[in-house]
Formats: sequence, structure tokens, C-alpha cells
Amino acid sequence: MNNKKNYEYLLSDLTSLKGVGSKTTNLLKKKKINNIFDLLWKLPKSFKDKSISSKIKELKIGDFQTITVIPKKYSFPRIRNLPNKVTCADETGEIDCIFFNSYEGYIKKILPIGKEITINGKISFYKNKYQVTNPKYVSEDSSFIKQKHNTYSLTEGVSEKVYNKIINQIIQRLPILTEWHSQNILKKFDNISWNDAIKELHKPENIGKYKEKFYQRLVYDEIFSTFLVNSEIRKKIKKNKKINKIIDFKKQTNLIDHLEFSLTNDQINSLKDINKDLCSSTKMFRLLQGDVGSGKTIVSLLAAYNTINSGFQVAVMAPTEILARQHYNLAKKLFPNYVNVELISGKTIFKEKKTILNKLKDKKIDIIFGTHAIFQKKVDFKKLGLIIIDEQHKFGVNQRKKLSDKGGNNCDVLLMTATPIPRTLTMTIYGDMDLSIIREKPKSRKPIKTYSKLENKIDDIIKFIRNEIKLDNQIFWVCPLIDESKKIDHTSAIKKFEYLKNLFPNQVALLHGKTDISEKEKILNDFLKNKFKILVSTTIIEVGIDFPNANVIIIENANKFGLSQLHQLRGRVGRGNKSSSCILMFKSSLSENAKKRINILKETNDGFVISEEDMKIRGFGDILGFKQSGIKNFKLADPILNNDLFLLAEKEIKRIEKLHENISKYKALIKLYDRAEIINDIV
Ligand code: ADP
Ligand code: MG
Repeated sequence: MNNKKNYEYLLSDLTSLKGVGSKTTNLLKKKKINNIFDLLWKLPKSFKDKSISSKIKELKIGDFQTITVIPKKYSFPRIRNLPNKVTCADETGEIDCIFFNSYEGYIKKILPIGKEITINGKISFYKNKYQVTNPKYVSEDSSFIKQKHNTYSLTEGVSEKVYNKIINQIIQRLPILTEWHSQNILKKFDNISWNDAIKELHKPENIGKYKEKFYQRLVYDEIFSTFLVNSEIRKKIKKNKKINKIIDFKKQTNLIDHLEFSLTNDQINSLKDINKDLCSSTKMFRLLQGDVGSGKTIVSLLAAYNTINSGFQVAVMAPTEILARQHYNLAKKLFPNYVNVELISGKTIFKEKKTILNKLKDKKIDIIFGTHAIFQKKVDFKKLGLIIIDEQHKFGVNQRKKLSDKGGNNCDVLLMTATPIPRTLTMTIYGDMDLSIIREKPKSRKPIKTYSKLENKIDDIIKFIRNEIKLDNQIFWVCPLIDESKKIDHTSAIKKFEYLKNLFPNQVALLHGKTDISEKEKILNDFLKNKFKILVSTTIIEVGIDFPNANVIIIENANKFGLSQLHQLRGRVGRGNKSSSCILMFKSSLSENAKKRINILKETNDGFVISEEDMKIRGFGDILGFKQSGIKNFKLADPILNNDLFLLAEKEIKRIEKLHENISKYKALIKLYDRAEIINDIV
């Protein structure tokens, strides 16, 4: 018996399991399976009922099936890469067993000529003959077919047998946890307990039963714990009292009146939300979410202006130098002379940097722009009142919480992201923040026309570009990395650069991951100033930079990207008031499915719609690299499929917040599901 009680057992090391040594533990750790709880979510991918044996004549192609046959003939070709073959037969026909990477000796041993052998594997049909390639089970003893097996998708080196053994062991010793859900919630899942649900989850016959109550309960657990942690962080942040800012609305109006455009309704409403937070005596922790080109910058600068007029300093962080500089230039243009605007960059020389830092300490600078990296170091402000963080969707909860603490008590925080995602996902990822959304795009915008073209029609594209250049327009040409895992691989971009340079002498520049920072900045600035016409690049140009004169983007090998990413890339053009185009290039003609996807892009420019479709196709983890950034990776829950459970969890959280319920009863749930550092402060 285990002597650790309840949930603690589930968090214990894998070596505490029988038959699991350090070798298996290390293999599993590579797959981020560090403890027993992690293993619970390693679900069987398929279930094979091997109890039914077929005759060769009755085999179903494409299915895993079991047959009893007699090996008749070996064929071991001496040519490398050709597989070994054993022809087997029963009274109804013949089947070839194909082996890649298996030695003759081994094959002869498991399939001796003339003996009755039982085989299980996936059946295919090739050149008029049944085949089974690398059969899963081969045995002289046909009794194994009586057992039911789960097939787990295996980690290199851990055999299926070991896996089944481990899981069985865990299921048998599964602790009985005290129920954390309220009766009302539990009723919705037919009162099934956490343990029973886990047991159901691992039953071979339950694979794929996503609609069953046991599965739904486990999905809900996951969502609920995430929301609970979010809610606690929010509460913590709101507890901080700050000196409220006093907004000079006359000054604000004056600045707005001098803009070259009028604000959209969504911009006005977002600004109102932010102003309300600035004026309140609790800390602002708000996300401004809006599609690319929706005009978030001006909203944030107006908030900055109000903060400055209230006697506080502002820090604006952007992901890249060039974006920081663009914001800085805009602020210099926008704000009256009495506002001291400064930029701190990686290139700023040491002496100058020191002067800037001193000025910040003395409040001789009102607003400073820089990259995230620069502000990671210690920077002292005399009276910091607002931190604005642009285009940072990859900050996790922990980083954000630290940020909110960092600015000190009187500091409000505004995050901006151009990642439109469905509401359920926003609730998950940014649930610790208040939210303002800009959905509407400025009215002056002309829609971006999106086309798809086969690569061999490149001459048409060149013709099109020639014409655009005549009209003094500029063009982005994006080449994907051939091998995503090798970030330095930019052969395709270099090749295209050479090709285009010949056609358009002195009009083309190249940018890729290896271009050094100052060179990169020079190229981007020259492009901004219309000194050349075509910028060939890998995807390194971050969103956010405004190139009003660029109105064509060509994306090569477009099937390498997801819809959301294509939408983001497309968003680099269409920011000015010219009409613009996006040409998606493909190597070969599109499948029906791919056509459907691309049509979504052609039909709408609404990032929220596109991301929802993208998620339906690819699953939420993949979109925009949320998975890589490790922000949140659900085990079972799916923000599209389980929309109802997300809403249920949201409602339940509101109830708990209203009642000021003590959350210690959820301790086990949170400890198990949400191992973010942050929970140490909570339960
Ligand atoms: P994003 O939301 O992607 O950060 P920006 O703030 O960079 O978008 O705005 C994109 C462009 O739209 C800028 O050139 C900006 O001046 C312009 N813009 C912002 N708001 C409006 C508006 N209400 N009407 C017209 N143009 C606008
Ligand atoms: Mg922006």
C-alpha cells in the first residue's frame, strides 16, 4: 500500500512504481511525464480486440486483424532498402509478411516454415495480394488473442507491454480523492467521482467516448482548475490599492481632435475601459486584444498621455527594436513638447544609457520606449504609473504576474495582442486579466484581395509585381524555412532573392534569421522609406510594424503555414489606404480540404473567425505556437468542442467569487492540474 495519502501519491516520482527503473523514467521524462499523474493522460490511442481471428479471404483492408497462417517461403533480397518478405498461407489464400529493418535470423525464428503461427497487424493490399507490414504480434501460441489490449502511442524504448503494466498498476492503486465539486456541478456528470472517471478513461472499450459523462467530468476538472487559478490571481492583483490617476479629458480630446483620422467605436470604448481603470484605486491588469491593423497603438498612447498628465511615468515595451522605434516616433509626433519622450535601444551606448537611466530615476523622462529585453534588467523609475506591453502573446501567467508586481504599487499594466482567438481560449490564457476587444477595423481600410497560385505560374506573379512597382508600391516576399527545426535554414529565401535581383536590379533586399540586428534594422528602415521595392524574407518580420506603402505580400509554399499564421502575415499589408493583395503560392494543386481552408482566408479578413476555423482544423495547441510557449496545454479539454463546459466553469467561478468561498477545498485539484509556480502563493 502507498502511505502517501490522496493526491500526493499521484505527484510522486515514477520510480515508486514496481518494474519502473531509471531507464524507463528517463525515457518518460523526455516526454514530459514526470510523475504518476502525468501518466494518467497518456491515453490508449486504439483498442484492438484480437479475440476474433479471420481467414485470409475475409480480411478487411486497413484494419488491424488477427490470422492464423503457415509460413511457406522466405524472400531476402540482397539489395539495400528492400524489405524482407515471408509468404504465408491458410486454406483460403496467401498473405505476405513484410519486414523492414529485421534480420533474417530473427524472421526465420518467429516465422518458421511449416509451423502454424498467429499474427496480428494492419492489413494492406498490394499488387493483388494481401500484406501485413511489420506485424504487431507474431506467436506460436494463439492464446494471446484472447486478451484485450490497449495500444498506447509509444515513447521510444518503452514497450507496449511495460506501458500496460504501469498503467494497470496505477489504476489499481488510484487514491480516492475527496470530491472538490459542488453537488450541483457533480450532478451534471451523473455524480461520477474523479477516480471512477479515470478508471473509465482507461478502459479499452471507452476510447473515443468523448461525450460520456466520465470524459466530460475530466474535461471540466481541467478547465475549472485553470479558471480557478486565474480567478485567484485576479483577486490578488485587485487587492493592491494604488493612487488613482486623474485624467485631464480636455487634453485627451484635444489630442484626439488633431489625429488624421477619427477613432473607431471599439477604439473609443477600449480607451474608456482603460481610463476607468487608470482612475480607479485598484491596479489595472488589462489585455487589449485586436486583430492586426485594428489600431491598438493609438489607444495605448492616449492612455499613456493621460497617465503622464496625471504626473506619472510610462514604460512601453515592444518585442523588437524597430517596433519600439516606430512607437517612439509616433509618440514624438503626437505628444506636445512638454512630454519628454525617450528611446532606449540595444545600440544605445553605455554612457548614454546611464544618462537615460538617471533621468528615469529623476523623472526627467515621462515616457520611455524599448524592447522587452531591455526592461528585463533592473530599471528604476521615480514614479512609474503604467507599463504598456505590445505584441506579447507569449508571456505566460507567471511572467505576467511578475510584471504586474514589478512596476510597484501604483503601476497599471496594459498588454496588447494581435492574436484574435476564440473567447474560450482567451478566458483560458488571459483569464487573469480584464479584457477589451477591438473588433472593428478602421473604415478607410480596403479589403486585402487574396489569391492562390501554383508555383509554376510564377511568371504571372512577376508580371503583377512589375505593374505594382510601376505604381510605386512595395512588396513583401515571404519564404518559409524549409526545415522548421533548423531555424538557420534560409536557402529558399536566398535563392528567391538571387532570382528576383536579376529581374529587378537594385530593387530587392533580403532579410533572414542570420542577418545581424543593425543590418536588419537598416534594411527595414530603408524599406519603410521606399528606398527599394521588394523585401524577401523568412517569417522573421514580426507583426506590428507599419509599412503603409507595402501593399502586396507573396507567401511561398503557403501550405507550410496555418490559417492564423497566414492571416498574421497577410496583415503586414493593407494598413495604408491603398488596396492590397496577398498571393499564396503552392507547389502543387490543392486538395479539396486545403481549398476549403484557403477559401476561409479569401472570404474573410476577420481574425477571430479565421482562428476559430483554424482551431477546428488543427486543434488549439498548434495555433500561433501556444503549445511551444507552454502557456497552457490541456490534456483533454478543447476550447471548440467543449465550449459548453468552458461556459459552465465560468459560471461556477463567478458563483464562487460572489460567495467569497474559501478555495482550500480545491487544493488537491489545483495541485494536481495546475503546477504553475504561482499556486504556491494561493493554496
Ligand atoms: P495594430 O492594432 O495592429 O497595432 P496599429 O495601431 O499599428 O495596429 O494601426 C495600424 C494603422 O492604422 C496605423 O497606421 C494607424 O495610424 C492606423 N489607424 C489607427 N486607428 C485608425 C483609425 N481609427 N482610422 C484610420 N486609421 C487608423
Ligand atoms: Mg501593433
